[in-house]
Amino acid sequence: MLDHIRTLVETESPSADEAALYRSADVVAALGTQVLGTPPQRDGIHLTWRFGGPTRVLVLCHHDTVWPIGSLRTHPFEVVDGILRGPGCFDMKTGLVMALHAIAELPDRTGVTLLVTGDEEIGSPGSRALIEAAATGAKAAFVLEASGPGGALKTERKGSAGYSLRVHGKAAHSGLEPERGHNAGVELAHQVLAIATLGDAALGTTVTPTVLSAGTTRTRCPRWPRSRSTCRRPRRANCRVSNSRSGRSSRSIQRYA
Ligand SMILES: [Zn+2]
Repeated sequence: MLDHIRTLVETESPSADEAALYRSADVVAALGTQVLGTPPQRDGIHLTWRFGGPTRVLVLCHHDTVWPIGSLRTHPFEVVDGILRGPGCFDMKTGLVMALHAIAELPDRTGVTLLVTGDEEIGSPGSRALIEAAATGAKAAFVLEASGPGGALKTERKGSAGYSLRVHGKAAHSGLEPERGHNAGVELAHQVLAIATLGDAALGTTVTPTVLSAGTTRTRCPRWPRSRSTCRRPRRANCRVSNSRSGRSSRSIQRYA
């Protein structure tokens, strides 16, 4: 099983990289075929193994990860002192390998369906219909995500919702006329700080800003008259100067944005 986990972990599969996901799906299909003795039905980056009869038990896994290509260089597969490491080994390539071997051990696989999706980490936009169809009529579904602390079995998970916030500013050349711009990036930073406080620990809710972006080039970093050079120089000291001025800048921006 460790060899199989290694095979999957060393096949990097970030959710946003379609080519990588197809390569990963190929590897998962080949490994599953080897372990289970039968090939999957292929729906692009999603794989389904059915073993006869209507589905009574759905086993659900995913082979995409949150780790970008190149993570293996800094986070290689390794097993040290009984601890396995590597991109996606926890979430959830180990679970996927366990699913393959557990199903392979069953004396009778009738009624079992194994669905391995490739877009779970981004909310399953392309596999949702497959999941719903596979789960229809099933008596049980096992999602082989990693266990909780102490090896605890997860019996439920929080619901989730995604939100997008777009801030509108006004671009201007950061060197020639920064005073004519309104820096949406600074305003976004203020909004993110506010959003991060919306979770309520007492209620068990969390709100976590994740993907952030602002700006197009270093020369379009407006509204900081004293930081022209700062925007153009990637030196850490200069960055601190500009950060210290962000509050005043953003207040101006809020009026205009
Ligand atoms: Zn997962």
